[in-house]
Amino acid sequence: MNLPRERLLTIRHRYLPVLKRLDALFGEMDRSYTAVAGQYGFACNGCADNCCLTRFYHHTLLEYLYLVEGLRSLDSDGRHAVFEKALTVSAAMNDADRQGRTLRIMCPLNRNDRCSLYPYRPMICRLHGIPHELHQSGGNPVKNPGCDSFFDQCRQHGQTNYIRFDRTPFYRHMAMLEKALRRETGYAHKIKFTIAQMLATFTDRTYEID
Ligand code: SF4
Repeated sequence: MNLPRERLLTIRHRYLPVLKRLDALFGEMDRSYTAVAGQYGFACNGCADNCCLTRFYHHTLLEYLYLVEGLRSLDSDGRHAVFEKALTVSAAMNDADRQGRTLRIMCPLNRNDRCSLYPYRPMICRLHGIPHELHQSGGNPVKNPGCDSFFDQCRQHGQTNYIRFDRTPFYRHMAMLEKALRRETGYAHKIKFTIAQMLATFTDRTYEID
């Protein structure tokens, strides 16, 4: 499924206010995450099990268009490098899928262990790592442990008690903003994209997004 990139970019003025609200929400997520991670004494310093090697799917138009804003912040050489990498990663994933292989491959935005569009990274990249809970209406709360690196560090610090980190309000707020964005853009299709696939939607190699 292709995103109607050209059409979306022509109505940028209409959806920018929604992205501004997303910006504020991401700021809240980052502050909450940092506060709880700090209480554990956990710091994400990069590790062998790097989560940028994990194939995460992203499901919102919000995250796609926010990433596009990130691309606008790069110069044309920077964009070119990102798109080329994304096409390579995307093709490798497609090959692996066709052959039924599991493939752990670095996100095309990761350069020298740093995210090259860090302020524009999607939600899961902001929330991954520390234990969390999620409350679904009518169901029991789902609790998830942190990543392996979290366990190693917290064992070292002797901090093993759960510190409450509830993702529910963030997910709800995202859903509300996604609804507002869909209303503004008229875009109704489901989305399921990796970062590489999102970036690879710019496949005409003109790299013009202004
Ligand atoms: S967007 Fe950035 S933080 Fe997220 S997986 Fe890619 S490189 Fe890592």
